[in-house]
Amino acid sequence: MQSDDQRNVERLTEQLRSEGIDVLRIGYADLIGTERGRDLVVETLAHHLGEGGIAFCRGVFHTSPRGDVVPVAGGLDAGLPDVLAKPDLSTVRKIPWEDGVAHVLADIVEPDGRPCAESPRSVLRSVVGRCEAENLVPVVGPEMEFYLLEGSSSSGWRRYGEAPGNVYVAGRKGDPENLLLEFLRQLARYGIRATAGNHEFFSGQFEINIGHSHALDAADRAFRFRTAVKELARRAGKHATFMAKPFNEEGGSGFHLHFSIVDPSDRSLFADEAAPTGLSSLAEHAVAGILAHAPALAAFNNPTINSYKRFGPDTLASWLIDWGLDNRSTMVRIPPERGDATRIEVRLGDATANPYLAIASVVAGAYLGIEEKLTPPPPTEGYGYDASRSRLLPRNLEAALDALEADTELTEILGKPLISAFVTYKRNELERFAHYVTDWEVGEYLYHL
Ligand code: MG
Repeated sequence: MQSDDQRNVERLTEQLRSEGIDVLRIGYADLIGTERGRDLVVETLAHHLGEGGIAFCRGVFHTSPRGDVVPVAGGLDAGLPDVLAKPDLSTVRKIPWEDGVAHVLADIVEPDGRPCAESPRSVLRSVVGRCEAENLVPVVGPEMEFYLLEGSSSSGWRRYGEAPGNVYVAGRKGDPENLLLEFLRQLARYGIRATAGNHEFFSGQFEINIGHSHALDAADRAFRFRTAVKELARRAGKHATFMAKPFNEEGGSGFHLHFSIVDPSDRSLFADEAAPTGLSSLAEHAVAGILAHAPALAAFNNPTINSYKRFGPDTLASWLIDWGLDNRSTMVRIPPERGDATRIEVRLGDATANPYLAIASVVAGAYLGIEEKLTPPPPTEGYGYDASRSRLLPRNLEAALDALEADTELTEILGKPLISAFVTYKRNELERFAHYVTDWEVGEYLYHL
């Protein structure tokens, strides 16, 4: 007797064969949202996937950007056991720029089939499930910025298309090789609903918008977007970086989340025509929850040491915990559209955030605000960078991790195993940095002192 998994894999093999696909790339997000994966020859799929998934060492979740295994519980200490990557067959997409290759997202499960507790996709699914059980359906439109670079780490990175004043322009002026046009077309064909692209505020910086949808699908598309942009850049001999603040002289790259909640029949629960702001009280509770939990949310939305250099006065990346009606200097901006388009724009995150965890944490913050019927402070009007007007965000990663660990309500929703894996991983990063001599210290001290 064939199992359901075996039958599904057989059907998939048939389908891919008929579309001329001979390799299936299986990918998933590790703890920091980088993609891990493997290319599988389609004719051998039954062998690889027939029993529910393909084995990966659990320690892969916990490797640093430099490739070292960080000692998170369940990895090195447990003898580096396996977890299984189980393809989610609803996510198969042909990769338009790689002939004969399709991509599929995987859920990571324990060998006994239970979801793996530190799998970001599973965590988001469980947060969304909790909301949906109360007929609250989270909808997200992700917006990510990035820099395109030339050169290499040994010769030094240069910003591609460096020129002054190319603030929100399209065309070869800020993009001499027309790369954005090519990226936009490829991404649209990839099925991740890329809708628009332009040169961003700073030299060499770009933004591509992707449409909104239910939270898990939106996170899947944001996750695929980042890998895809990096791949497309490599094809063009460039490097795309989503680092929060890669240059001292230019601004950072944000990962803004347009967020709303609808009911199961897709009716907005954020709009209320009768209210003076056009926002329902549920929307205000959601805003209040996000503000109340912001110090902890920063750990997932601003997850690197570098992330905190993006914030500051006059940066378009608020350093205060506040909100405002169509006010871009606030952390939570309420865009002016109302009716079905009523939404909040959480501008907290930077582009290094793991899309699954960033979205899971924002949804969880909103959910808590709704559950507890929290009321937000009055919205900020005018200039929003005045530190006397609102609480400050954590000033560094260490403070954000402390806030996350102290936030018992958020921990309850996101799960203790995820929080402790994440905090352990990130404290290892802090520890390594604390002992590293940086260029700044050499410039500041070496000659003069
Ligand atoms: Mg932008």
